[in-house]
Amino acid sequence: MTFLTSYYTINFSCEIFFIFIYMKRFLFIIPLFLLSLLLYTIEQPGITSITNNNSLDVLSSSLQKKHGEISTVYKLNVDFNPDKKLFTVEEIINWKNLTEFSTNEIQFHLYANAFSNNKTELGKKFDFDESEQTKIQIRSLTVNGIVRQFEYFQPEIDNLFDSTVARIDFDKPILPFDSVVIKIKYELQIPRSRIRFGYAAGREFYFIAQWFPKLGVFKDGKWICSQYHPYTEFYSDFADYEVTINLPKDYIVGSTGQLINEVIRDSNKSLTYSAQNVIDFAWTASTEFYTQTKNYQSKFGKDIEVTFLIQPENKKLLSRKFQAAFNTIEYLEQYIGEFPYSQINLVDAPRTANIGGMEYPSIVTYFTPLFSPIEIQRPESTIIHEIIHQYFYAAVSSNEVYEAWLDEGITSYLEAKILSEYYGNPILHFRFIDYYPVYGMSFLSFREVPLIYSLKAFEFEHSSYALASYYLNNELGSIRDTSYKLPNRLSYLVNAYSKPYLILQVLENYLGKEETLKLISDYYSKNKFSLVDANDFLDVLKNNESTDLEWFISNFLNESKKFDYKIRSLAKEGNTYKIFVERLEEGIAPTEIAVYSEVDTTYIDWDGIDRWRVFTIESNNEIIAAEVDPFRRNILDINYANNSYTVEPKYWASLSIAIRWFFWVQNALLIFGSVG
Ligand SMILES: [Zn+2]
Repeated sequence: MTFLTSYYTINFSCEIFFIFIYMKRFLFIIPLFLLSLLLYTIEQPGITSITNNNSLDVLSSSLQKKHGEISTVYKLNVDFNPDKKLFTVEEIINWKNLTEFSTNEIQFHLYANAFSNNKTELGKKFDFDESEQTKIQIRSLTVNGIVRQFEYFQPEIDNLFDSTVARIDFDKPILPFDSVVIKIKYELQIPRSRIRFGYAAGREFYFIAQWFPKLGVFKDGKWICSQYHPYTEFYSDFADYEVTINLPKDYIVGSTGQLINEVIRDSNKSLTYSAQNVIDFAWTASTEFYTQTKNYQSKFGKDIEVTFLIQPENKKLLSRKFQAAFNTIEYLEQYIGEFPYSQINLVDAPRTANIGGMEYPSIVTYFTPLFSPIEIQRPESTIIHEIIHQYFYAAVSSNEVYEAWLDEGITSYLEAKILSEYYGNPILHFRFIDYYPVYGMSFLSFREVPLIYSLKAFEFEHSSYALASYYLNNELGSIRDTSYKLPNRLSYLVNAYSKPYLILQVLENYLGKEETLKLISDYYSKNKFSLVDANDFLDVLKNNESTDLEWFISNFLNESKKFDYKIRSLAKEGNTYKIFVERLEEGIAPTEIAVYSEVDTTYIDWDGIDRWRVFTIESNNEIIAAEVDPFRRNILDINYANNSYTVEPKYWASLSIAIRWFFWVQNALLIFGSVG
């Protein structure tokens, strides 16, 4: 606020003059704002953006087959007609029952049908207009050569308008090791993209996800096949894919897997991609992409091809984007394990695609914000986040519909680690309104328009984002609730992203960074290319040899407990001091109590179990204050203000932590509240 306070010293009589000058300077904001609004609306015909760097992501799956054994092979042949925005697809699915159970049915996801009307589970939330609607039009369907039909049903939420899941029943059971061949011909009109799938309004850009009938997961004798719910993504099994895309030759394509064949005929081309052992296949096509590939030399000996497919207007950020990708892979290979694929495509989704950040095997999307100074760490944070999902979601694949916290929590935690390591703390309070044009100060620019930082930018730690949302919603739902049932978006975001991230941060605060990352690395190496659930993660925590983490699992992960420790009083009787400590909520976390004298600090260890305890210490030095959890290990404590107590108010130096904390939380809440 130096900029403002300098004016306060000016003689009052000149004030009006300076206010005028001052206002004049601010007038610069108006054309700047109008310009950004114009740029925004040119590409944005009335769509509400859902781009959040932590936006809904993820996929997953789980099946008890032998490691690496593939039960499903998909072969897809797509004729893509951009003029009509139409797909004609031939799909062949070979499924072999590699379980010990037999089944009388096969279940399918038909997630493109989530866009078929406004009353699907997804449609109720997003209210698709006509251009955003589509439905898979089945032209033929056979199983082992016999004509069959999909029977649509709703496994979770009774809603006849929702046809995102279907099954085919059989008179005779499909026995272990039996194979079926399913052939489907269908057409699919490509909708205007609202989330994940479709074309971007005003741009020649297509992102194609959730576009083909895909098997549910057959596990323990049961099918797991969820409807397309508004916040969660999907869960499917590992499979091999061969996908041929026929389209005009001027389109640039990026996809899951590797290009194995390219044939150009006249004005068209056929591209064939192969992907092994992946949970999904997504692709993108655009005539506008600027692409660049660089190899990352893995410390495990292979080269990883990193390809950016970017919008031409975002070219100048390319080196930052490569740096973000390389930093992420470097960090993950150092602490977690080998990058699971030999390539990764990073797709810069235009604003009107409304896709945000989303991960699919070896292809991810991210979004380049209108203003992208490095200090706000975007698009870096999204690129980092989605690459981490290659480990946790694509390779170690959990059920996002039921346990979204498992991959989102670990991913959010690692995202913060990587951002801290390479970029430091973000400036959270960095929004358009904070750009003040000031003469002679360090200029930034966006499309050659000069911009200046606000002088009131605060530095925040990464966890402040998560803490702010945790404070807003620390009661509704828990991380272990079935994700799709969480009652609203905030509850979903808190319990899938913020809270599990904070919980892992708590674990780090007790164990240290290296040991926490080692546990996550164990979880990765044990479960790479497998379907997992929360027990697989908990097993790693339980089986670690150095520390007993039962208390942590039961208080932080298995139940949604609240934490609040308090120093009720600090009484003096001669040289004896009595520190009265309370546990106000049911959550238990071992902690320290710091006792501050004028000359030193003494720490008392406490298991934190009793509802209250009185600690007595003798001291020849004057004790001035006491504080429970002085190292802030348990950042889920809902009220830090009561953690410290001073003998006399004048010794308020010891309170400074609590004061800073409140200042900080209030700001965080304020900012979060304004974000919505
Ligand atoms: Zn995510």
